[in-house]
Amino acid sequence: MCGIIGFTGGSPALPFVLSGLRRMEYRGYDSAGVALCGGSPAKIEIRRAVGNVSALEAEVAAAPTDPAATCGIGHTRWATHGAPSVKNAHPHLSPDGRIAIVHNGIIDNYAELRDRLAAQGHVFASETDSEVIAHLVAESEAPTLAERVMWALSFVRGTYGIAVVSADDPGMIVVARKGSPIAVGTGGGASMVASDPAALAGRAESVAYLDDGDVAVLTPGAFEVRSLANTPVSRPCSPLDIDPASVEKGGYEHFMLKEIFEQPEALRNCLRGRLLPDDGTAKLSGLRLGPRDIASLSNIVVTACGTSYYAGLHGVYAFEEFAGIPARIEQAAEFRYRNPIVTPDTALVSLSQSGETADTLAAVREAKRKGALVLSVCNAVGSTIAREAGRGVYLHAGPEIGVASTKAFVCQVAALSMMALLFGRTRRLSGTEGRAFVKALASAPDLVAAVLARNDEIARIAEKHAAVRDAFYIGRGYQHPAALEGALKLKEISYVHAEGYHAAELKHGPIALLDENVPVVALVPQGPDRDKMLGNVQECRARKAPVIAIATEGDADVRSFTEDVIEVPPCPDFVAAIPVVVAEQLFAYHVARLRGEPIDRPRNLAKSVTVE
Ligand code: GLU
Repeated sequence: MCGIIGFTGGSPALPFVLSGLRRMEYRGYDSAGVALCGGSPAKIEIRRAVGNVSALEAEVAAAPTDPAATCGIGHTRWATHGAPSVKNAHPHLSPDGRIAIVHNGIIDNYAELRDRLAAQGHVFASETDSEVIAHLVAESEAPTLAERVMWALSFVRGTYGIAVVSADDPGMIVVARKGSPIAVGTGGGASMVASDPAALAGRAESVAYLDDGDVAVLTPGAFEVRSLANTPVSRPCSPLDIDPASVEKGGYEHFMLKEIFEQPEALRNCLRGRLLPDDGTAKLSGLRLGPRDIASLSNIVVTACGTSYYAGLHGVYAFEEFAGIPARIEQAAEFRYRNPIVTPDTALVSLSQSGETADTLAAVREAKRKGALVLSVCNAVGSTIAREAGRGVYLHAGPEIGVASTKAFVCQVAALSMMALLFGRTRRLSGTEGRAFVKALASAPDLVAAVLARNDEIARIAEKHAAVRDAFYIGRGYQHPAALEGALKLKEISYVHAEGYHAAELKHGPIALLDENVPVVALVPQGPDRDKMLGNVQECRARKAPVIAIATEGDADVRSFTEDVIEVPPCPDFVAAIPVVVAEQLFAYHVARLRGEPIDRPRNLAKSVTVE
């Protein structure tokens, strides 16, 4: 998820490690740390700080490490388990302080491992899932550090990119990868590792990319790659072709585009370990709800603002359709001031990417005062809403820096869908229905990847419409919230006046505004609403409005009336909103880019709305 860096060579490691961390700052993170290994006898020193790399540099300046240490690892953390704090920041140490590790990813079975180690007397210094790795490596009696790491990883389920140093093997770094990228390189007599090759630009003469299941051992100027079963593997080395100047956004022109392209991975992280294909249900331990708690819910109120509100509306449809629980959505500012009816069997589901949205937080407090069961769906771990709700689902979408939300939206939809599945399977969905639901939702990352592959086509369609002043987005069913979100995206970053409507609402007023200068983005993927939508599209065409359709691949009817079609793969309608919204994001992005707008910092907008 976040950043790993490491260096072992003939010169001091700290400057390399700190500048590598700086290069990865564009990824967004909440805390940072370093571990330096050196001296005689060798020892490990760690320094950590909450906030950015400058805070870590200040920490190192205040308490310098051995300046001569030539081996070190560093980390920028984006918390998934345990709030951002110094004690949770990486590196983490083994109990005797002789092993330090940094970890990207999530250890799914960390609770089990932690309990087992605690029963053997291990005391943990952090709330992270990652710390168990350091403790496990220390438990191994294998002869080499690489074998001790392999032994430790044999117990671990989940995803990891890790780097490990040991005071008993000074000058050596052992790294491993499963589901979280790791590049290793050599240059100038040193060896280095980074989770993001951009951090090695201009430093590594050649690099190799590890595959899942690889373990690499780095010594000054050389590395060897082995399998988890300790057999040698060969990974091709190639010169690193990254211009150090392009590093800031990992090669993307904007954070927003980078985050749009991160969505398959963000969705995988959000769904990982939570969908149970055999039982056809979801496991959401953070909700802390047993079957009897779920069975006794009589209604759900979803509350949120902005993009989260639209994700919430999608959730409302899913709660009613799949769980059979009456559900409604309430704008958070209305909820806090309107004195809404809340009963002890109401579940209030609050949604906020940052977990700090002022109105949503106030709504959470109001609902708690009224005795509701409060659940949160947040991206930022340890945020105020997540803490005050006490129960919830984290998105695990990774840091979102672009002001216009992208990957948080699709992960909110995925998280609410998993809640609807869990509630549904507790109440009225059969195993067969549940398994079909799991299969459909699990395909979301691939559906998104298919839309991303059409980026150039979408850019060409955006070019035709980049000069518009007004636009409409229409949809029905699950595509209704998607229409609202598409219009908001266009407004936020391109400043084009856009309105999202339920397609049936068009003739109750807004159709008066349509003419040949006002395009209509029509969301018409396959599903129960598609035919009715085609009728609404004809109404728009009769007013000469240009139509941009987002439709299922190969839908010839749609092609017959407009050439501006963005295709999404076939899928059930409750999942289709995910690829449809990604198509809308790319369309809005390209319109804004062609108009020369500052996409990552749109005027008048803030990333986290912490005021009323
Ligand atoms: N799951 C780990 C933690 O919460 C690693 C997070 C990351 O990838 O930055 O500390």
